[in-house]
Amino acid sequence: MEKIKFTFLILLGVFLSSCNQNHLDTHQNEKKDQSHLQWGYDGITSPEHWAELSPEFIKCAEGHFQSPIDLESYVATKQQRAVLKFNYHPASVDMVNNGHTVQANIEADDEELIANGHSYKLKQAHFHAPAEHQIDGIIYPMEMHMVHADDNGKLAVVGVLIKEGRENKVLADLWNDLPDQKEEHIHPAQKCDILHLLPDEHTVFHYSGSLTTPPCSEGVEWFVMKTPIEMSKIQISEFKKLYHGNNRAIQQLEERSIEISE
Ligand SMILES: [Zn+2]
Repeated sequence: MEKIKFTFLILLGVFLSSCNQNHLDTHQNEKKDQSHLQWGYDGITSPEHWAELSPEFIKCAEGHFQSPIDLESYVATKQQRAVLKFNYHPASVDMVNNGHTVQANIEADDEELIANGHSYKLKQAHFHAPAEHQIDGIIYPMEMHMVHADDNGKLAVVGVLIKEGRENKVLADLWNDLPDQKEEHIHPAQKCDILHLLPDEHTVFHYSGSLTTPPCSEGVEWFVMKTPIEMSKIQISEFKKLYHGNNRAIQQLEERSIEISE
């Protein structure tokens, strides 16, 4: 029984892992091997060395379905099935600085994304600066990744690009008190109105890719919104004080196709 429980916990850890390794994984890795070199974005732990850090990270070097990519609109084919339905509601979040990004873990299990007729639940959202995906070569200052999983652990990530503009009112509460220390958790008093984090216009690019962080696992369904949302210069700089350059370089499209919702 204990063995089954242990196996379940390991699977749960895999299930919860995201395109940014979450704090559960970080704890497990630290327990496993204190001397294990943590991945990062600088020097010998930077993305071009990820595959050398652990055999588990081999896909980072040898995968053929890697993320992020440049979403070139002229090669995208129009597809009805790229249309998304968001059944999101305001939810409490747990903000954590996991050493790679600031991540908002969703403390509700009814935040649903329906993509290609398939139901996924929102697990967490986190941020990269600058953005990881590009659209026709344009690099935005930030990108939010909303990480969803289905009952079998298959991941669907909604990427929302962020440009400099007006203050983002939905994020204002979360940005009030960003966790600036590694492993620090902040629990905002207000619920986060997740639905209103999305742009009003829902045209979306869809392709099959990977986690953008180790272990760079493939089979991740990516949906990147074409329209960016806005954050103020101050909000962007508040994040950049903690993380600036936590983005992986764009990867080759190779044999894949990009779809855009009709
Ligand atoms: Zn990410």
